[in-house]
Parts: sequence; C-alpha cells; structure tokens
Amino acid sequence: MDYQGDIIRPPSEAFSLILQVTTGCSHNRCTFCGAYRDKPFRIKPWQQIETDLDFAATWCQRHTTLFLADGDALALPHTHLIALLERIRHKLPWIRRISSYASCQNILARTDAELSDYKRLGMSRLYMGLETGHDPTLRAIGKGVDSAQMIEAGQRVRKAAIFLSITCLLGIAGAENSLAHASATARALSRMQPHQIAVLTLMLIPETPLYRLMRAGRFVLPDPARLFQELRCLLEQLEPFRTQFHANHASNYFSLSGRLPKDREGMLATIDRAVGGLLPLKPELWRAL
Ligand code: SF4
Repeated sequence: MDYQGDIIRPPSEAFSLILQVTTGCSHNRCTFCGAYRDKPFRIKPWQQIETDLDFAATWCQRHTTLFLADGDALALPHTHLIALLERIRHKLPWIRRISSYASCQNILARTDAELSDYKRLGMSRLYMGLETGHDPTLRAIGKGVDSAQMIEAGQRVRKAAIFLSITCLLGIAGAENSLAHASATARALSRMQPHQIAVLTLMLIPETPLYRLMRAGRFVLPDPARLFQELRCLLEQLEPFRTQFHANHASNYFSLSGRLPKDREGMLATIDRAVGGLLPLKPELWRAL
C-alpha cells in the first residue's frame, strides 16, 4: 500500500484497512492543528488507488472495515468518490464499513441525495471535528464555519443514515471561555445528536498559530482542574439522547467512556473524583495526540 507521510486515523479505526486517497487536509487552516501543516492537499492518482486495491484484494482479506485517509475524503469530486466506492465494493466485497474524516464544509457541499449515494455504496461512518459549539472560538481557531453550519452538517449526515462521530476539544477556548465553550458545545451536540462523541484534550503543537499565541501570552490553556470542570459541564448539559460518549483518547488526563444517557451519573461521579484529586491522572509525558 502506498502511504505518504504520517497516517492519522480515529482510534476506532485501529483495525481498519487504511486506503490513502488524498494527502493532507483540504482546509488546513485550523490554528491548533499540526496534523497536515507540511503536507499539501492533493488527490492521489487513480492508478495508485487501483494498485492499492489490487494489493488489498490479495493480502488484506481479513479486514472488514476500511478507512479513507487523509484529512477529508469528501473533498474528492462527487463522481470520483462514487467511482472509488464502487471500485472498493467490486474489488473488496468483504468490506462491510467504509469511513472517513469529513469537514463541515465538504459535507455541506454535498446534496442529501449524494450523501445517501455514499451510504448506499458502503460509506457508513463519518468523523467530523466540531471542536466547539462556541462561535467566538470557532472564529478564533479558523474552522471556517459557525456552529449553525456544524449542526446542519451533522444533521444531514444523520439524515443520510450515516453513523456520525463528532470530536470535541477540551481547552480549545482557553481558560477565559472554558465553561462558555462547554455549554455551547453541549447545545450543538444536543441538536446534532451524533451516534458517538469523542472528547480530546488540546495539546499545543509547536509551529502552530495557537502555540505562538500561547507563547505571546495571548492564549492561556486551562489547567487540568478547569479542564475537568469543562468536561463535567459538557456532559451534564447534554440533552438525554442516546449516544456513545468517549473521553478516553491518549490526550486526556484520565479515561472515561460510556453510553448516554444511562451512564451519565457514573461518568459525572468519575469526573468529580478527578476534580477532587481522588483519581490517578496520566502523567503529562504520557499524553499524546
Ligand atoms: S483540524 Fe481538521 S479541518 Fe482543521 S486543519 Fe486539522 S485536519 Fe484540517
């Protein structure tokens, strides 16, 4: 398989076959993100994809899930993406789930019928980075969309019966707007009602604009106690819809995972133990993105 640069995938795609169809991210302007900073967005040549599919057809028959890398396969032109999904079905008929990261912008650029076509051809899971539902923060971090657009994109993915996983980022609003960010994010998530919520904790990456703001004293990262309050506020204010709630990423100070609404009280109690200093925390050095 041809892989160019570091390959990033969601934790739940750990056992998936990774097919890199683009390099980089079509947006690549979020101030906190260092994932593809030195990797220009490019659609990989079709011949390379065919070669990878032929390889996978021979050597990857145990994989039943497939993840399209890099940052946003929905940046492919519609006809290109349809042809790709059809080729995957033809050459790897044992694949039962195709998934991808998807930016809000690229979801909104698709019609409902196009999203339904992707679902029909096996693309049954999309991961969208909300980061926050707090509009001043969305503007500050350069996501290029507001919370209303995020909500619309999430609702349209759900309408197409595609599993929707949403990522949120503790600490992204800084210390000053920490709880406003948590409340606004809970409101946005409650309106989208994703099937899965993944909460990560911001780690500042050298060379990113947000890191430079921090160095200049214009961005203050919340301390761990404030981050736990932020997580508590987010979880507490979510409306009681059914979803999987995961705050067990390598960037988090402790691991939290459960189903909502049934596990909410137990998870809140765990956060309270962390706030009270009663929970062992991950050493700073062990945290990772
Ligand atoms: S956070 Fe996502 S959309 Fe923003 S630059 Fe990074 S990969 Fe692209």
